[in-house]
Amino acid sequence: MSSKKVIIIGAGLAGLSAGCYSRMNGYATRIYEHHSKPGGVAACWRRGEYLIDGGIHFMMGSQNGTDLYNIYRQLGVADPANFVPMKSYGSFIDIEGSRQLDIPLNISELALDLKMLSPADAPLIEDLATAVTAFSGKDLAIYGQMNPPELTSGLDKLTDMWKMRKLFKYMSGKYAKSMQDYTAGMQNRWLAECLNNLFTPQCPVWFVIMLLAIAADGQMSYLAKGCKDFVRQIEKRYKDLNGEVTYSSTVEKILVRDDCAFGVKLADGTEDYADYVISAGDIHNTVFHLLDGKYIGKKLQNKFDTCELSRPYFVASFGVKWTFENESVFNTLILKQPLQIGNREIRQIFVRIFNYSNHFAPKDKSVIQAEFETEWDYWDNLRQTDPNKYAAEKERLVSEILVNLEILYPGISPLVEIADVATPCTLNRYTLNHQGAPEGWGLTSQNFKEETRRSLEGLSNLYLAGHWVSGGVPGVILSGRQAIQLVCAKEKKPFFTRTT
Ligand SMILES: Cc1cc2nc3c(=O)[nH]c(=O)nc-3n(C[C@H](O)[C@H](O)[C@H](O)COP(=O)(O)OP(=O)(O)OC[C@H]3O[C@@H](n4cnc5c(N)ncnc54)[C@H](O)[C@@H]3O)c2cc1C
Repeated sequence: MSSKKVIIIGAGLAGLSAGCYSRMNGYATRIYEHHSKPGGVAACWRRGEYLIDGGIHFMMGSQNGTDLYNIYRQLGVADPANFVPMKSYGSFIDIEGSRQLDIPLNISELALDLKMLSPADAPLIEDLATAVTAFSGKDLAIYGQMNPPELTSGLDKLTDMWKMRKLFKYMSGKYAKSMQDYTAGMQNRWLAECLNNLFTPQCPVWFVIMLLAIAADGQMSYLAKGCKDFVRQIEKRYKDLNGEVTYSSTVEKILVRDDCAFGVKLADGTEDYADYVISAGDIHNTVFHLLDGKYIGKKLQNKFDTCELSRPYFVASFGVKWTFENESVFNTLILKQPLQIGNREIRQIFVRIFNYSNHFAPKDKSVIQAEFETEWDYWDNLRQTDPNKYAAEKERLVSEILVNLEILYPGISPLVEIADVATPCTLNRYTLNHQGAPEGWGLTSQNFKEETRRSLEGLSNLYLAGHWVSGGVPGVILSGRQAIQLVCAKEKKPFFTRTT
């Protein structure tokens, strides 16, 4: 047992993970969380009989035998009952053109379907399918993330590169560009639009290839009971390890003496002291507010100056007396009547149907959710300047989304029992994420190249974790682990893990 103490800011997935590993390594640990419950952006809430899940869409590495599954085991979530295997990658539905494209998990089947749809694009389709096949079976979800950059030597990097040598060509050149660049020359623009939205049009091609390979390997699933249960299981693991957490407690300052972090000051004025502080909350707030902008360093400043944040979402969820049997869980709808928001037109929405488990709604009912990217400034201005207009705007969009859903599911509107809306301001209020950014930095090709270090220039005993240093569920839970690896390295102690 160590007599040293770690304070963690934030009980999102990264903070809870850091807490578990901190306790596994014997440090007295306390998490301070701004919200009244854990999870951060991995959030669920009740509306009457319905459970609204506003977070994680799919889980990677959900079958035994992967490196990631071992991490789940350490965090107490490696329970097959948590995961419902994904059966299809999703569907694209063009309401106006009455066209639909379903994306099967099997890559040969997908390639055949796409070539039938657009024979002229066969070379690109085959190129994509060959790349996915090359990635298949390679256990890539947490590749290269077992150690933080600060503890990764040149030799470690070379060893990693050697293991991946056969995949290199699929991670550079045209595959390092964005999906929209890769598909720019395609003949069939509808097919190009579908491929661009397999994830986001701005993300690099290799990332989409990796997702399709993980899905084809049967390593992608939905959370059977939503992200609330998943989060609560990690919180339980943390508490079983005797970790302590205080909710509804916002950290206002990180206490620093002689360029060394030694504790935190809370919004109510209380101070708590520790040997190490881990910030698993918003990076902008951490650097500019909690540390008064003193330790930003050139690299991070450059990142703030040049890298986009992830674009915030508008999310409308409907509890409805409808079961959506045999419908895809993930659907991208190209709208007949685009939504107008400020001076921006939304032509497509992502529709998520919670028909894969009975946990979200009573029998014969279900939840359908529509989500699209929107502008922080628009919603923030509206909310600050005219709360009535803000409320009216949410209602207007709910009605217009329903008009579009009615085209696909005639008769659905009167069967809607509850409608729930979350704007970027909602996410900001509950998580403090800068400008409602739901996933840290934007998932662009450029941002993927920019590594964010886990420590700040000139400041010791403070480490960063969370979606501002690494992305997605695998990335953030590993970032919590990495923060404790850094603590152990500083203490010159071996790093220990334990499974449940
Ligand atoms: C809609 C949506 C869908 C997603 N889908 C997927 C998916 O399908 N697959 C996947 O792998 N990933 C997905 N992600 C990404 C993944 O969910 C996130 O990367 C991850 O949950 C982020 O966790 P985090 O702990 O880093 O940050 P957060 O969840 O933002 O947690 C940070 C926590 O810190 C707290 N905090 C901040 N500042 C302070 C302070 N000063 N004092 C006290 N507490 C503070 C906040 O309240 C918050 O609880 C999705 C994200 C979103 C938003």
